[in-house]
Amino acid sequence: MPLLEFDIIKKYFSDITTKENSANIHLGIGDDAAIVSIPENKRLVVCTDTLNEAVHFPLKTSAYDIAYKALTVNLSDLAAMGAMPKWFTLNLSLPDVTESWLADFSKGLKSLSDKYQLDLIGGDTTCGPLSISITLAGYVDEEQDLLRSGAKVGDKVYLSGCTGEAAYGLACLSAGEALDEHQQYFVSRLNQPAARVDLGLSLLGIANACIDISDGLVADIAHIAEASQCGVKLDLNAIPLPAIADKEQARHYALSGGDDYELAFTVAASSQTVLEKLISQTDLKITCIGDVVATQGVQLLDKGKPVELSYTGYEHFSNQ
Ligand code: ADP
Ligand code: MG
Repeated sequence: MPLLEFDIIKKYFSDITTKENSANIHLGIGDDAAIVSIPENKRLVVCTDTLNEAVHFPLKTSAYDIAYKALTVNLSDLAAMGAMPKWFTLNLSLPDVTESWLADFSKGLKSLSDKYQLDLIGGDTTCGPLSISITLAGYVDEEQDLLRSGAKVGDKVYLSGCTGEAAYGLACLSAGEALDEHQQYFVSRLNQPAARVDLGLSLLGIANACIDISDGLVADIAHIAEASQCGVKLDLNAIPLPAIADKEQARHYALSGGDDYELAFTVAASSQTVLEKLISQTDLKITCIGDVVATQGVQLLDKGKPVELSYTGYEHFSNQ
């Protein structure tokens, strides 16, 4: 007999919790709603993201990877705000109840909840096309935040890691051929992206503006420019490229590929020294890729000369 809704929740979702955090969680899963408190001098930062089958992940993606990604995309949003993630809710729409799938899914959630000390405090479980919606909440200090709108003319623009790797991973999967080790690395970047939570936290007080790259480097940097009412000049030759043979293709992925969840941020000249110290203390590659300027919009420069911007990001309703 298939499991009933309550059994599913009890068996697969009641154990995604950490003692660490429980002081602020007065009531988790089980009642009509959860009850949490916010520590003094903190503010609650909340984000939500939905993953739909075939839109946000390929059909064959494992349940573990789906869960991992569903939580990571939210962790990345909080990272971009410089927030410390704390708890989440899960709205799960399932076409059927397959226990092996649920067990795998639960493990994916648990791996990240252990890593970041997160509690799953509630949700909703329904029957329908596969869709995963997570709402994640965390804290920032009352006087500290990291917004898209804080960039100032004269700031340098930085990028963590390398964008375009996940997009190339998707291309490898779509080709439908056996994957070599090199290609598997890119597929892992697609299926198990890393949220830059620690970097986001350490940028508080250093960066003026920050965004996570989910839709494409140029498209997302344009959001910083727009929100900050300034422009950004990107140095084409400074932008890190995925390690693939075709440089033109690599560049295309780096500029427009989504799903990498790296952070792009801007830093004033006065904070360069602290940033350099931070860079020297992290294993993460952090690259200066441009400047914040007064002229609005994003401009791409190749050895100082403007380049046509034909690379745009992912846009959900572009086919309608
Ligand atoms: P109600 O019918 O009152 O909305 P539900 O039957 O939907 O309650 O949920 C019962 C309890 O289980 C609630 O505490 C709810 O937050 C939790 N819950 C339901 N689905 C999930 C899920 N997918 N993940 C975590 N908690 C869940
Ligand atoms: Mg109820």
